Amino acid sequence: MKQEKFKFSSRLVKCYFDADFSYLEKLVERTKVIIITDENLALHYANKFMDYKTIVVNAGEEYKQQSTVDHVINELIKRNADRESILIGVGGGVITDITGYAASVYMRGIKFAFVPTSILAMVDAAVGGKNGVDVGLYKNLVGVINHPEFLLYDYSFLKTLPQEEWINGFAEIIKHACIKDKQMFSFLEKETLERFQNYPKEIAKLIKQNVEIKYSIVSKDENEKGDRKLLNFGHTLGHAIENINKLSHGNAVSIGMAAACKISGDIKSFSSKETARVIALLKKYNLPVTLPLGESRRGTIWEVLLKDKKKSGDTMNFVLLNKIGDAIVKPIPLDQLKNLFNKVLL
Ligand code: ADP
Ligand code: ZN
Repeated sequence: MKQEKFKFSSRLVKCYFDADFSYLEKLVERTKVIIITDENLALHYANKFMDYKTIVVNAGEEYKQQSTVDHVINELIKRNADRESILIGVGGGVITDITGYAASVYMRGIKFAFVPTSILAMVDAAVGGKNGVDVGLYKNLVGVINHPEFLLYDYSFLKTLPQEEWINGFAEIIKHACIKDKQMFSFLEKETLERFQNYPKEIAKLIKQNVEIKYSIVSKDENEKGDRKLLNFGHTLGHAIENINKLSHGNAVSIGMAAACKISGDIKSFSSKETARVIALLKKYNLPVTLPLGESRRGTIWEVLLKDKKKSGDTMNFVLLNKIGDAIVKPIPLDQLKNLFNKVLL
C-alpha cells in the first residue's frame, strides 16, 4: 500500500493506493461508519459490508437526484447518525457524489470518505471535492465543494466492473492526457484496454498517475477560477447530450471531446492531424466520436447547454486544445458557438 497526502485549502486528504477494503477498520471506528453504496455493489460485495451499517441506493445516473439524497437522509435518521458518524461512499461516481453531498448537509456537515470502485470514480469523480446531484436533465446543478477525509483504493473491486464502465472511465483518462500530459497520450496510443484489464499493476499505475494530474490541477484552483476549468474539456457538449440522449458520461464526453477538437481547429491552430490522433485514440478505447442527431433534439441540446455553469452572460467559457497536452479556456460568443456546434455535429 502507498499512502499519499493531498493538500487542499480546507483539508489534507489522505489517499491509500493499492489498499485492501479491510484496511478501513484501521482508519475508522467500525461503529461510527455508515456505508453508502448501490444495489449492484451490495449484491457483489455483501460479505465486505456485512459488519457495517449500510444504506443501499438504486444504481445509475438517473438516481443522482435530490430525491435519493432525501432518502439517504431519512435512512441516516433511522440509523441514529450523529455528528460523530462517518459516511463512507463505496461505489462509482454517483455514490461518491451523493455521499459527499449528503454528508455535507446532514447536521450541517459530518465526516465522509470514499472507496471509489469504478475507473471513473477512481480517476475523477472522487477526486477534487465536487459533490452534488443533477436536477432533471441539468447535470450537477446543485452541490457543494467539500473534501473527503480519505480515499481508499482497492483495485480488486475492478474485477466485477462491467466492460462498458471500463470504457466510460477511459474517457476521463484520455481527457487528462489531452489537456495536460502528451506523454501519457502517447503511452495510451501504444497500450490497449485489454492490457490494462489484464495487468493489475498497469491499471494501478495509470490510476495513480491520473489522480495526481487531477490533484495538481485542483489544488491550485479549488474554486474553478482558472486552470480547473480545463477539466471541462469535452464536457460542455458532453453534459448537454448525456441525459437528453441517454448516454453514459464517458460516451457523452468522448463525443464532446471529438467536437471540441474540431472546434479547436476552427478557432485555434489545432491541426487536423492532431484531431485525427485524438479521434483515433477515443475509438481505440471503444468510445464513440459522433452522435447521430435528429434536428428536433438539437433545439433541446442547445437549451440544456445554455444552463451550463460555464456560461457567463453572452459567452461560454469553452475549453480548446492548442496542442495535445496543452489546453486553454476561451470565452466564445454563444451565437458563434451555436454555429460551430451545428457544423461539427452534422
Ligand atoms: P460512474 O460512471 O460515475 O462511476 P456510477 O456510480 O453510476 O457512475 O457507476 C456506474 C455503474 O457501475 C453503476 O451501475 C454501478 O453500480 C457499477 N459499478 C461501479 N463499480 C462497480 C464494481 N466495482 N463492480 C460492479 N459494478 C460496479
Ligand atoms: Zn466527466
